[in-house]
Amino acid sequence: MKLMSFLQSFRHSGKIGGWGLIFFNLILFLGWGEVYPDQLDKYAQRRLEMVETQIKARGIKDKAVLEAMRKVPRHLFVDRKYWEEAYNDYPLPLAEGQTISQPYIVALMTECLGLKKGDKVLEIGTGSGYQAAVLAEITPQVYTIEIRRNLVERATGILRKLGYHQVKVKWGDGYFGWAEYAPYDAIIVTCAANHVPPPLMKQLKIGGRLVIPLGSTLYFQTLTLITKTATKPKVKHILGVRFVPMVGEIQKKGRP
Ligand code: SAH
Repeated sequence: MKLMSFLQSFRHSGKIGGWGLIFFNLILFLGWGEVYPDQLDKYAQRRLEMVETQIKARGIKDKAVLEAMRKVPRHLFVDRKYWEEAYNDYPLPLAEGQTISQPYIVALMTECLGLKKGDKVLEIGTGSGYQAAVLAEITPQVYTIEIRRNLVERATGILRKLGYHQVKVKWGDGYFGWAEYAPYDAIIVTCAANHVPPPLMKQLKIGGRLVIPLGSTLYFQTLTLITKTATKPKVKHILGVRFVPMVGEIQKKGRP
């Protein structure tokens, strides 16, 4: 049936309003792709509960971090089959054997950075883009590097769709940092490393903070906070963690 006569038939039957609405919703649905308002709202309550029971309850106090965790729709950064689990207290699988960290770990690492609005922050290991979105809720200057091309494309797509246009995503080996935009107020490494890549320390401002899971890339690491000073860096051990390994240049340098 031709479109005009199709629409005419509803006008005659007096149902143009209802069908028009359905038609309008269909356009909205197609336009938004996977992200339509219904799905954003559906999980809002779970997000609030996640912050109360998993994050505040464990001692995270930074208001900007709590607010960011309440806002970012975590489910949209994982595969649709994990949406129902997206606000639970554990990490979830991403493509290519990678993982999105447990919400508490994302909040803890973000709080360690002590970010203020306007700070420039570099992330190594974009993964899904979720951590980058959390950072972007706090400061507009977010730079993130991912070594797996497929993940770069997915993360860029969802960040754009959700309006995080200020996040700059680069495909490359984060071991070398991103010299073009250095120095950074803060650096967050979200893959396990057996040493701090020297270029990252170099690209950090004096007084800047770097958080990294440091230890064996195959087994366990210690979440470590390093503050750069004019002399020796200050090092603080936060807690035991398990992250997927950093790959690329770091693997050429001694033990895993
Ligand atoms: N922060 C992510 C989760 C990171 S998982 C999120 O919020 O979803 C760790 C990521 O580090 C993986 O995507 C992995 O591909 C990436 N990675 C591993 N080695 C890397 C390297 N040398 N440079 C940049 N990214 C790397």
